[in-house]
Amino acid sequence: MAEYDVIVVGGGPAGATAARKSVQNGLNVLLLDKATFPRNKPCAGGLKDFVLELLDFDISSVIHRKISGVALFAPEGYRVDCIPEDRSKPGWTVMREDFDHLLLKKASEAGAVVKEGAEVMDVQESAREITVTCMDGNSYTSNYLVGADGINSIVAKQLGFYKGWRKDSASVAIEIEAEVGSEKVKEICGEPGGYDAELLLLYFGDFPHGYAWCFPKKTVLSVGACCRQDKVTNIRAGYDAWFERFKKAHDIEPKILSDSASRFPLRPAETIVKGRSLLIGDAAGLVDAFTGEGIPEAIESGIFAADAVKDAVRGDNPQTLKSYEKQCQKTIQSELKVSQSLANVFFKNAKNMDILCRFFRDDPYARYLIAASIGGLLSQKEIKKKMTFRMMKTMPKDALSLYM
Ligand SMILES: Cc1cc2nc3c(=O)[nH]c(=O)nc-3n(C[C@H](O)[C@H](O)[C@H](O)COP(=O)(O)OP(=O)(O)OC[C@H]3O[C@@H](n4cnc5c(N)ncnc54)[C@H](O)[C@@H]3O)c2cc1C
Repeated sequence: MAEYDVIVVGGGPAGATAARKSVQNGLNVLLLDKATFPRNKPCAGGLKDFVLELLDFDISSVIHRKISGVALFAPEGYRVDCIPEDRSKPGWTVMREDFDHLLLKKASEAGAVVKEGAEVMDVQESAREITVTCMDGNSYTSNYLVGADGINSIVAKQLGFYKGWRKDSASVAIEIEAEVGSEKVKEICGEPGGYDAELLLLYFGDFPHGYAWCFPKKTVLSVGACCRQDKVTNIRAGYDAWFERFKKAHDIEPKILSDSASRFPLRPAETIVKGRSLLIGDAAGLVDAFTGEGIPEAIESGIFAADAVKDAVRGDNPQTLKSYEKQCQKTIQSELKVSQSLANVFFKNAKNMDILCRFFRDDPYARYLIAASIGGLLSQKEIKKKMTFRMMKTMPKDALSLYM
Protein backbone atom coordinates (compact mmCIF):
# COMPACT_ATOMS: atom_id res chain seq x y z
CA MET A 1 0.00 0.00 0.00
CA ALA A 2 1.27 3.50 -0.85
CA GLU A 3 2.43 5.61 2.13
CA TYR A 4 0.54 8.76 1.11
CA ASP A 5 -2.69 9.56 -0.72
CA VAL A 6 -0.85 12.32 -2.56
CA ILE A 7 2.68 13.67 -2.88
CA VAL A 8 3.04 17.31 -3.89
CA VAL A 9 6.40 18.20 -5.48
CA GLY A 10 7.12 21.92 -4.96
CA GLY A 11 6.09 24.17 -2.09
CA GLY A 12 5.51 27.50 -3.90
CA PRO A 13 2.02 29.07 -3.92
CA ALA A 14 0.64 26.27 -6.12
CA GLY A 15 2.04 23.33 -4.14
CA ALA A 16 1.46 24.83 -0.68
CA THR A 17 -2.18 25.53 -1.57
CA ALA A 18 -2.74 22.08 -3.08
CA ALA A 19 -1.23 20.45 0.03
CA ARG A 20 -3.28 22.51 2.52
CA LYS A 21 -6.52 21.96 0.63
CA SER A 22 -5.82 18.24 0.22
CA VAL A 23 -5.35 17.83 3.98
CA GLN A 24 -8.56 19.80 4.55
CA ASN A 25 -10.20 17.33 2.15
CA GLY A 26 -9.17 14.51 4.48
CA LEU A 27 -6.13 13.21 2.59
CA ASN A 28 -2.76 12.05 3.83
CA VAL A 29 -0.26 14.44 2.18
CA LEU A 30 3.51 14.71 1.70
CA LEU A 31 5.01 17.91 0.27
CA LEU A 32 8.62 17.94 -0.94
CA ASP A 33 10.60 21.07 -1.83
CA LYS A 34 14.27 21.26 -2.72
CA ALA A 35 14.63 24.63 -0.99
CA THR A 36 14.73 25.49 2.70
CA PHE A 37 12.17 28.21 3.46
CA PRO A 38 12.18 31.17 3.61
CA ARG A 39 13.72 31.00 0.14
CA ASN A 40 14.31 33.65 -2.50
CA LYS A 41 11.98 33.60 -5.52
CA PRO A 42 12.58 36.13 -8.30
CA CYS A 43 9.22 37.90 -8.52
CA ALA A 44 7.82 41.43 -8.56
CA GLY A 45 5.41 40.36 -5.80
CA GLY A 46 2.24 41.98 -7.14
CA LEU A 47 -1.02 40.39 -5.96
CA LYS A 48 -4.53 40.87 -7.28
CA ASP A 49 -7.19 41.28 -4.60
CA PHE A 50 -8.57 38.01 -5.97
CA VAL A 51 -5.62 36.18 -4.33
CA LEU A 52 -6.86 37.27 -0.90
CA GLU A 53 -10.32 35.94 -1.80
CA LEU A 54 -8.86 32.57 -2.81
CA LEU A 55 -6.94 32.03 0.43
CA ASP A 56 -8.78 30.90 3.57
CA PHE A 57 -6.43 32.73 5.98
CA ASP A 58 -5.24 36.26 6.65
CA ILE A 59 -2.07 37.40 4.90
CA SER A 60 -1.94 40.98 6.22
CA SER A 61 1.28 40.19 8.14
CA VAL A 62 3.17 39.86 4.83
CA ILE A 63 1.53 42.68 2.87
CA HIS A 64 3.92 45.53 2.04
CA ARG A 65 1.88 48.05 0.07
CA LYS A 66 -1.66 48.70 -1.06
CA ILE A 67 -1.84 49.33 -4.79
CA SER A 68 -4.45 51.64 -6.27
CA GLY A 69 -3.50 51.42 -9.92
CA VAL A 70 -0.80 51.40 -12.52
CA ALA A 71 1.32 54.02 -14.27
CA LEU A 72 2.22 53.16 -17.85
CA PHE A 73 5.30 54.73 -19.44
CA ALA A 74 4.88 54.77 -23.23
CA PRO A 75 7.84 54.14 -25.56
CA GLU A 76 7.81 57.91 -26.29
CA GLY A 77 8.27 58.57 -22.58
CA TYR A 78 4.92 60.08 -21.57
CA ARG A 79 3.12 58.70 -18.52
CA VAL A 80 -0.45 57.41 -18.29
CA ASP A 81 -1.92 56.88 -14.79
CA CYS A 82 -4.69 54.27 -14.66
CA ILE A 83 -6.53 54.45 -11.32
CA PRO A 84 -10.13 53.34 -10.78
CA GLU A 85 -12.18 56.03 -9.00
CA ASP A 86 -13.81 53.78 -6.38
CA ARG A 87 -10.62 51.82 -5.58
CA SER A 88 -12.88 49.12 -4.22
CA LYS A 89 -10.51 46.31 -5.13
CA PRO A 90 -6.93 47.36 -4.68
CA GLY A 91 -3.91 45.30 -5.52
CA TRP A 92 -1.21 44.43 -2.98
CA THR A 93 2.51 43.77 -2.87
CA VAL A 94 4.46 41.18 -0.92
CA MET A 95 8.00 39.88 -0.70
CA ARG A 96 7.81 36.37 -2.08
CA GLU A 97 10.23 35.05 0.50
CA ASP A 98 7.72 35.83 3.28
CA PHE A 99 4.50 35.22 1.32
CA ASP A 100 5.61 31.75 0.17
CA HIS A 101 6.90 30.90 3.65
CA LEU A 102 3.51 31.80 5.15
CA LEU A 103 1.67 29.63 2.61
CA LEU A 104 3.98 26.69 3.31
CA LYS A 105 3.53 27.09 7.09
CA LYS A 106 -0.24 27.06 6.55
CA ALA A 107 0.08 23.76 4.65
CA SER A 108 2.14 22.30 7.46
CA GLU A 109 -0.18 23.64 10.20
CA ALA A 110 -3.13 22.03 8.40
CA GLY A 111 -1.35 18.67 8.70
CA ALA A 112 0.67 18.12 5.53
CA VAL A 113 4.04 16.43 6.10
CA VAL A 114 6.47 19.02 4.70
CA LYS A 115 10.05 18.05 3.85
CA GLU A 116 12.34 20.91 2.90
CA GLY A 117 15.76 20.44 1.31
CA ALA A 118 14.23 17.45 -0.49
CA GLU A 119 15.14 17.71 -4.17
CA VAL A 120 13.18 15.24 -6.28
CA MET A 121 15.42 13.50 -8.79
CA ASP A 122 13.29 10.63 -10.03
CA VAL A 123 9.58 9.93 -10.49
CA GLN A 124 8.18 6.53 -11.51
CA GLU A 125 4.55 5.66 -12.07
CA SER A 126 3.19 2.10 -11.99
CA ALA A 127 -0.38 0.89 -12.39
CA ARG A 128 -1.16 1.32 -8.65
CA GLU A 129 1.21 3.97 -7.31
CA ILE A 130 3.86 6.64 -7.80
CA THR A 131 7.39 6.43 -6.40
CA VAL A 132 9.33 9.65 -5.88
CA THR A 133 13.07 9.55 -5.09
CA CYS A 134 15.01 12.50 -3.69
CA MET A 135 18.65 13.49 -4.05
CA ASP A 136 19.39 12.17 -0.52
CA GLY A 137 18.28 8.70 -1.65
CA ASN A 138 14.98 8.68 0.25
CA SER A 139 11.97 7.33 -1.66
CA TYR A 140 8.28 7.88 -0.97
CA THR A 141 5.16 6.32 -2.47
CA SER A 142 1.70 7.71 -3.07
CA ASN A 143 -1.48 6.98 -4.99
CA TYR A 144 -1.44 10.36 -6.72
CA LEU A 145 1.15 13.03 -7.57
CA VAL A 146 0.85 16.79 -7.99
CA GLY A 147 3.65 18.48 -9.96
CA ALA A 148 3.99 22.01 -8.52
CA ASP A 149 7.71 22.31 -9.21
CA GLY A 150 7.70 25.41 -11.40
CA ILE A 151 8.85 26.12 -14.94
CA ASN A 152 11.65 23.52 -14.90
CA SER A 153 9.31 20.83 -13.58
CA ILE A 154 11.05 17.48 -13.14
CA VAL A 155 7.65 15.83 -12.68
CA ALA A 156 6.53 17.06 -16.13
CA LYS A 157 9.74 15.93 -17.81
CA GLN A 158 10.05 12.53 -16.14
CA LEU A 159 6.42 11.57 -16.64
CA GLY A 160 6.42 12.71 -20.29
CA PHE A 161 4.07 15.72 -20.05
CA TYR A 162 6.59 17.78 -22.05
CA LYS A 163 10.32 18.06 -22.67
CA GLY A 164 10.68 21.77 -21.88
CA TRP A 165 9.40 25.20 -23.00
CA ARG A 166 10.01 26.44 -26.55
CA LYS A 167 11.69 29.84 -26.69
CA ASP A 168 8.52 31.49 -28.02
CA SER A 169 6.55 30.02 -25.09
CA ALA A 170 8.60 31.42 -22.22
CA SER A 171 9.78 34.78 -21.00
CA VAL A 172 13.20 35.51 -19.52
CA ALA A 173 13.27 37.97 -16.66
CA ILE A 174 15.65 39.82 -14.37
CA GLU A 175 14.53 40.97 -10.95
CA ILE A 176 16.40 43.21 -8.52
CA GLU A 177 15.37 44.06 -4.96
CA ALA A 178 16.69 47.58 -4.39
CA GLU A 179 16.68 49.06 -0.86
CA VAL A 180 15.90 52.79 -1.13
CA GLY A 181 13.98 53.59 2.09
CA SER A 182 10.29 54.20 2.61
CA GLU A 183 10.28 57.89 1.61
CA LYS A 184 11.91 57.18 -1.76
CA VAL A 185 9.46 54.33 -2.39
CA LYS A 186 6.57 56.77 -1.84
CA GLU A 187 8.22 59.46 -3.93
CA ILE A 188 8.74 57.11 -6.89
CA CYS A 189 5.57 55.00 -6.73
CA GLY A 190 3.15 57.16 -4.70
CA GLU A 191 -0.24 57.88 -6.21
CA PRO A 192 -0.34 61.51 -7.35
CA GLY A 193 -2.88 63.45 -5.28
CA GLY A 194 -2.10 62.12 -1.84
CA TYR A 195 -4.29 59.00 -1.61
CA ASP A 196 -2.51 56.57 0.71
CA ALA A 197 -1.62 53.94 -1.84
CA GLU A 198 1.01 53.31 -4.43
CA LEU A 199 1.12 52.54 -8.15
CA LEU A 200 2.81 49.77 -10.08
CA LEU A 201 5.06 51.34 -12.70
CA LEU A 202 5.34 49.65 -16.12
CA TYR A 203 7.76 50.80 -18.83
CA PHE A 204 7.30 49.85 -22.49
CA GLY A 205 9.55 50.07 -25.51
CA ASP A 206 12.97 48.93 -24.26
CA PHE A 207 12.36 45.16 -24.16
CA PRO A 208 10.98 43.30 -27.22
CA HIS A 209 7.72 41.52 -26.42
CA GLY A 210 8.07 42.54 -22.79
CA TYR A 211 8.48 45.46 -20.43
CA ALA A 212 10.29 46.76 -17.37
CA TRP A 213 8.64 47.36 -13.99
CA CYS A 214 9.06 48.97 -10.61
CA PHE A 215 6.84 47.62 -7.80
CA PRO A 216 6.82 49.25 -4.35
CA LYS A 217 7.54 47.34 -1.13
CA LYS A 218 7.93 48.87 2.36
CA THR A 219 11.48 50.16 1.90
CA VAL A 220 12.43 48.29 -1.24
CA LEU A 221 11.70 48.64 -4.93
CA SER A 222 11.33 45.46 -6.98
CA VAL A 223 12.76 46.53 -10.30
CA GLY A 224 12.88 44.13 -13.21
CA ALA A 225 12.32 43.43 -16.87
CA CYS A 226 11.11 40.55 -19.00
CA CYS A 227 10.92 39.65 -22.66
CA ARG A 228 9.99 36.62 -24.73
CA GLN A 229 12.96 34.28 -24.90
CA ASP A 230 13.07 34.08 -28.71
CA LYS A 231 13.20 37.89 -29.01
CA VAL A 232 16.40 38.49 -27.07
CA THR A 233 19.94 37.17 -26.91
CA ASN A 234 21.16 39.02 -23.83
CA ILE A 235 18.51 40.56 -21.58
CA ARG A 236 21.16 41.36 -18.96
CA ALA A 237 22.96 43.96 -21.11
CA GLY A 238 19.69 45.71 -21.98
CA TYR A 239 18.54 45.56 -18.36
CA ASP A 240 21.76 46.98 -16.90
CA ALA A 241 21.59 49.97 -19.24
CA TRP A 242 17.88 50.53 -18.44
CA PHE A 243 18.49 50.25 -14.67
CA GLU A 244 21.31 52.83 -14.86
CA ARG A 245 18.87 55.27 -16.54
CA PHE A 246 16.21 54.44 -13.94
CA LYS A 247 18.59 55.17 -11.04
CA LYS A 248 19.68 58.47 -12.62
CA ALA A 249 16.09 59.55 -13.31
CA HIS A 250 15.16 59.02 -9.64
CA ASP A 251 18.47 60.08 -8.15
CA ILE A 252 19.00 56.83 -6.23
CA GLU A 253 22.03 54.65 -5.52
CA PRO A 254 20.25 51.71 -3.88
CA LYS A 255 21.69 48.85 -1.88
CA ILE A 256 20.99 45.74 -4.01
CA LEU A 257 19.51 43.00 -1.78
CA SER A 258 19.10 40.44 -4.57
CA ASP A 259 19.63 40.25 -8.30
CA SER A 260 18.42 37.16 -10.13
CA ALA A 261 17.48 35.92 -13.58
CA SER A 262 14.57 33.59 -14.10
CA ARG A 263 11.91 32.48 -16.58
CA PHE A 264 8.15 32.10 -16.64
CA PRO A 265 5.96 30.21 -19.13
CA LEU A 266 3.71 32.10 -21.55
CA ARG A 267 1.20 29.42 -22.47
CA PRO A 268 -0.50 26.47 -20.77
CA ALA A 269 1.03 23.02 -21.29
CA GLU A 270 -0.98 20.91 -23.74
CA THR A 271 -1.39 18.09 -21.21
CA ILE A 272 -1.82 18.74 -17.51
CA VAL A 273 -3.27 15.38 -16.41
CA LYS A 274 -1.65 12.03 -17.12
CA GLY A 275 -2.30 8.72 -15.38
CA ARG A 276 -2.11 9.37 -11.63
CA SER A 277 -0.42 12.77 -11.93
CA LEU A 278 -1.35 16.34 -12.61
CA LEU A 279 0.49 19.63 -13.05
CA ILE A 280 -0.40 22.95 -11.42
CA GLY A 281 0.93 26.54 -11.40
CA ASP A 282 3.99 27.35 -13.50
CA ALA A 283 4.64 23.64 -14.10
CA ALA A 284 1.32 23.63 -16.02
CA GLY A 285 2.19 26.91 -17.80
CA LEU A 286 -0.60 28.83 -16.06
CA VAL A 287 0.79 32.36 -16.31
CA ASP A 288 -0.79 35.47 -17.81
CA ALA A 289 1.15 36.18 -21.02
CA PHE A 290 0.23 39.88 -20.95
CA THR A 291 1.00 40.79 -17.34
CA GLY A 292 3.35 37.96 -16.33
CA GLU A 293 1.20 37.21 -13.26
CA GLY A 294 0.99 33.60 -12.18
CA ILE A 295 0.29 33.65 -8.43
CA PRO A 296 -3.54 33.72 -8.70
CA GLU A 297 -3.43 30.92 -11.27
CA ALA A 298 -1.01 28.90 -9.12
CA ILE A 299 -3.30 29.12 -6.08
CA GLU A 300 -6.52 28.51 -7.97
CA SER A 301 -5.08 25.52 -9.85
CA GLY A 302 -3.85 24.16 -6.49
CA ILE A 303 -7.40 24.31 -5.13
CA PHE A 304 -8.89 22.67 -8.25
CA ALA A 305 -6.21 19.95 -8.17
CA ALA A 306 -6.83 19.12 -4.51
CA ASP A 307 -10.54 18.62 -5.18
CA ALA A 308 -9.89 16.40 -8.20
CA VAL A 309 -7.40 14.27 -6.23
CA LYS A 310 -9.90 13.91 -3.36
CA ASP A 311 -12.50 12.52 -5.81
CA ALA A 312 -9.91 10.20 -7.37
CA VAL A 313 -8.90 8.85 -3.93
CA ARG A 314 -12.50 8.39 -2.78
CA GLY A 315 -13.55 6.61 -5.98
CA ASP A 316 -10.18 4.85 -6.37
CA ASN A 317 -10.29 6.03 -9.96
CA PRO A 318 -7.46 8.02 -11.62
CA GLN A 319 -9.81 8.90 -14.51
CA THR A 320 -11.50 11.36 -12.15
CA LEU A 321 -8.43 13.62 -12.40
CA LYS A 322 -9.69 14.64 -15.85
CA SER A 323 -12.21 16.88 -14.10
CA TYR A 324 -9.23 19.07 -13.10
CA GLU A 325 -8.25 19.52 -16.76
CA LYS A 326 -11.79 20.50 -17.72
CA GLN A 327 -12.12 22.95 -14.84
CA CYS A 328 -8.80 24.60 -15.70
CA GLN A 329 -9.75 24.88 -19.36
CA LYS A 330 -13.11 26.43 -18.53
CA THR A 331 -11.81 28.98 -16.04
CA ILE A 332 -8.07 29.68 -15.88
CA GLN A 333 -7.03 28.71 -19.40
CA SER A 334 -9.85 30.50 -21.17
CA GLU A 335 -8.80 33.73 -19.40
CA LEU A 336 -5.14 33.10 -20.23
CA LYS A 337 -6.01 32.72 -23.93
CA VAL A 338 -7.46 36.24 -23.89
CA SER A 339 -4.26 37.54 -22.31
CA GLN A 340 -2.21 35.75 -24.95
CA SER A 341 -4.12 37.49 -27.72
CA LEU A 342 -3.83 40.87 -25.93
CA ALA A 343 -0.08 40.32 -25.57
CA ASN A 344 0.26 39.36 -29.24
CA VAL A 345 -1.44 42.58 -30.34
CA PHE A 346 0.16 44.95 -27.81
CA PHE A 347 3.74 43.69 -28.03
CA LYS A 348 3.62 42.98 -31.81
CA ASN A 349 5.59 46.12 -32.76
CA ALA A 350 6.35 49.71 -31.72
CA LYS A 351 3.46 51.01 -33.86
CA ASN A 352 0.90 48.95 -31.91
CA MET A 353 2.34 49.95 -28.52
CA ASP A 354 2.22 53.56 -29.60
CA ILE A 355 -1.42 53.38 -30.81
CA LEU A 356 -2.56 51.64 -27.64
CA CYS A 357 -0.66 53.90 -25.25
CA ARG A 358 -2.19 56.96 -26.97
CA PHE A 359 -5.61 55.34 -26.66
CA PHE A 360 -5.08 54.82 -22.91
CA ARG A 361 -3.74 58.37 -22.49
CA ASP A 362 -6.65 60.04 -24.27
CA ASP A 363 -9.57 57.93 -23.05
CA PRO A 364 -10.50 57.84 -19.31
CA TYR A 365 -12.65 54.75 -19.82
CA ALA A 366 -9.73 52.84 -21.38
CA ARG A 367 -7.62 53.86 -18.37
CA TYR A 368 -10.33 52.60 -16.02
CA LEU A 369 -10.28 49.22 -17.81
CA ILE A 370 -6.52 48.89 -17.38
CA ALA A 371 -6.81 49.77 -13.70
CA ALA A 372 -9.68 47.31 -13.27
CA SER A 373 -7.37 44.47 -14.25
CA ILE A 374 -4.99 45.24 -11.34
CA GLY A 375 -7.33 44.34 -8.51
CA GLY A 376 -9.31 41.89 -10.63
CA LEU A 377 -12.41 44.14 -10.80
CA LEU A 378 -13.10 42.71 -14.27
CA SER A 379 -12.00 39.51 -15.97
CA GLN A 380 -9.54 39.62 -18.87
CA LYS A 381 -12.40 38.55 -21.17
CA GLU A 382 -14.59 41.48 -20.09
CA ILE A 383 -11.68 43.90 -20.38
CA LYS A 384 -10.81 42.76 -23.90
CA LYS A 385 -14.44 42.95 -25.03
CA LYS A 386 -15.06 46.39 -23.56
CA MET A 387 -11.69 47.71 -24.77
CA THR A 388 -12.30 46.47 -28.33
CA PHE A 389 -15.80 48.01 -28.48
CA ARG A 390 -14.51 51.27 -27.08
CA MET A 391 -11.65 51.46 -29.53
CA MET A 392 -13.80 50.58 -32.53
CA LYS A 393 -16.17 53.35 -31.49
CA THR A 394 -13.65 56.07 -30.76
CA MET A 395 -10.73 55.36 -33.11
CA PRO A 396 -11.86 52.70 -35.64
CA LYS A 397 -8.99 53.21 -38.12
CA ASP A 398 -6.34 52.77 -35.43
CA ALA A 399 -8.22 49.77 -34.02
CA LEU A 400 -8.17 48.02 -37.41
CA SER A 401 -4.53 48.87 -38.07
CA LEU A 402 -3.51 46.96 -34.92
CA TYR A 403 -4.16 43.73 -36.80
CA MET A 404 -2.30 44.69 -40.02
C1 LIG B 1 10.70 37.97 -12.46
C2 LIG B 1 9.30 37.47 -12.23
C3 LIG B 1 8.33 38.34 -11.74
C4 LIG B 1 7.04 37.88 -11.46
N1 LIG B 1 6.12 38.74 -10.91
C5 LIG B 1 4.88 38.31 -10.61
C6 LIG B 1 3.94 39.17 -9.96
O1 LIG B 1 4.22 40.31 -9.66
N2 LIG B 1 2.70 38.67 -9.68
C7 LIG B 1 2.34 37.39 -10.00
O2 LIG B 1 1.18 37.01 -9.76
N3 LIG B 1 3.24 36.54 -10.59
C8 LIG B 1 4.49 36.97 -10.89
N4 LIG B 1 5.40 36.10 -11.46
C9 LIG B 1 5.01 34.72 -11.72
C10 LIG B 1 5.01 33.91 -10.40
O3 LIG B 1 6.26 34.08 -9.75
C11 LIG B 1 4.78 32.42 -10.69
O4 LIG B 1 3.71 32.27 -11.57
C12 LIG B 1 4.49 31.66 -9.38
O5 LIG B 1 5.62 31.67 -8.55
C13 LIG B 1 4.08 30.22 -9.68
O6 LIG B 1 4.00 29.50 -8.47
P1 LIG B 1 4.34 27.93 -8.43
O7 LIG B 1 4.05 27.48 -7.05
O8 LIG B 1 3.69 27.26 -9.58
O9 LIG B 1 5.88 27.83 -8.74
P2 LIG B 1 7.14 28.38 -7.92
O10 LIG B 1 6.78 29.56 -7.13
O11 LIG B 1 8.24 28.50 -8.93
O12 LIG B 1 7.47 27.20 -6.90
C14 LIG B 1 8.03 26.00 -7.35
C15 LIG B 1 8.68 25.31 -6.16
O13 LIG B 1 9.13 24.02 -6.59
C16 LIG B 1 10.38 23.75 -5.99
N5 LIG B 1 11.08 22.77 -6.83
C17 LIG B 1 11.52 22.93 -8.10
N6 LIG B 1 12.10 21.81 -8.55
C18 LIG B 1 12.03 20.91 -7.53
C19 LIG B 1 12.48 19.56 -7.37
N7 LIG B 1 13.13 18.89 -8.33
N8 LIG B 1 12.24 18.95 -6.18
C20 LIG B 1 11.60 19.59 -5.16
N9 LIG B 1 11.17 20.87 -5.27
C21 LIG B 1 11.39 21.52 -6.43
C22 LIG B 1 11.08 25.11 -5.92
O14 LIG B 1 12.07 25.15 -4.91
C23 LIG B 1 9.90 26.04 -5.63
O15 LIG B 1 9.75 26.29 -4.24
C24 LIG B 1 6.70 36.54 -11.75
C25 LIG B 1 7.68 35.66 -12.26
C26 LIG B 1 8.97 36.12 -12.50
C27 LIG B 1 10.00 35.16 -13.02
